[in-house]
Amino acid sequence: MVVPMPGSEAALRRGCTCSAADNARGNGIPRDGKTAFWITKGCPLHDAPRQPPEMKGFADDFADDFGGDGGGE
Ligand SMILES: [Zn+2]
Repeated sequence: MVVPMPGSEAALRRGCTCSAADNARGNGIPRDGKTAFWITKGCPLHDAPRQPPEMKGFADDFADDFGGDGGGE
């Protein structure tokens, strides 16, 4: 599944809580020659902890270890 850009209409419809205004409604902010996005902490679409594909198939207790500490700050 492709995740829509933070703040875009498609993302907001899927439950994104990032700021539409701060992300120019999904177009992002030009920064150092790149496009940056503000990710709101706790956004279910963009701040959700990601598990690399190779994690799939590991034992359940492994997943608990990796999912429990919030991914660091
Ligand atoms: Zn978001």
